[in-house]
Amino acid sequence: MPKLLLVEDEKSIAEGLAITLEAEGFQVAWVKDGLDAIPAWERVRPDLVVLDLMLPGMSGTEICRTLRSRSDVPIIMLTAREAEVDRVVGLELGADDYVTKPFSTRELVARIKAILRRAPLVDAPLDETPAEASGVRVDRVRHEVRVDGRDVELPPKEFELLAVLVEHAGRVLTRGQLIDEVWGSDYVGDTKTLDVHIRRLRTRIEDDPQEPTRIKTVRGVGYRFADR
Ligand code: CA
Repeated sequence: MPKLLLVEDEKSIAEGLAITLEAEGFQVAWVKDGLDAIPAWERVRPDLVVLDLMLPGMSGTEICRTLRSRSDVPIIMLTAREAEVDRVVGLELGADDYVTKPFSTRELVARIKAILRRAPLVDAPLDETPAEASGVRVDRVRHEVRVDGRDVELPPKEFELLAVLVEHAGRVLTRGQLIDEVWGSDYVGDTKTLDVHIRRLRTRIEDDPQEPTRIKTVRGVGYRFADR
C-alpha cells in the first residue's frame, strides 16, 4: 500500500483528502504544522509527499528544500495562487508537480497516481539472463561479476548496486531509486552511503576511478551506467 504524507493545516481540506486517498488504497499520514513535516517524513518514509505552501511553523518552501536536500521523494505542492507556481515547480525548489487551490480531489489523485507510476523501476528485468553493458556482466543467479572477462568479487550491497545499474544501462537512475532498489526500507544514514558505495565500485570496475567511463555521475540527479 503506497504511503502518503499530507502536510496541510486546513482541517477541512486535509480530512476530505485523507478520506478520498484512503478509499483509493493509500495509507495517509497527516500533519498540520510545518514543523512536524520533516520528523513525520523521517518516521513514515512516505512514497510521496503532498505539501501545502502556506503553513504555520515552517513554510512549504522550506520543507520542500529540506526534503530535497535529503531525499528524492516525489513532492506535490498545494499552492493558493497561480503566481507561485513557477517558483514552486522550478528547479529552485524541486517539487515534482503542483495543484492550485481550490483543486479537485480527483485531479490531485490522478497526479499522485501518475507520479507514483513513473517513480519505481517498473522495467526491472524479471528473467535470470545475466545483464551486460560496457564490458561488465552481472549474473544474479551465480552471483558473479565479470569485468572485461575477469572475475570481480563484490560485497553484497555493491553487487546489488552494480546489478541495478547494469540492468538499467543507458538510463539515469536517481539517488532515491538506487537507494530504494538496493537498501529499501533497511536504509539508514544519509545519502552519502550511496556515494561511498559508488566510489568503492569504481575502484573495482573502472580502469581509472578518477575518470570513470562506466558509472557516470549525473550531477544533481543520480548515476547512469554507460550502455557501451
Ligand atoms: Ca495552508
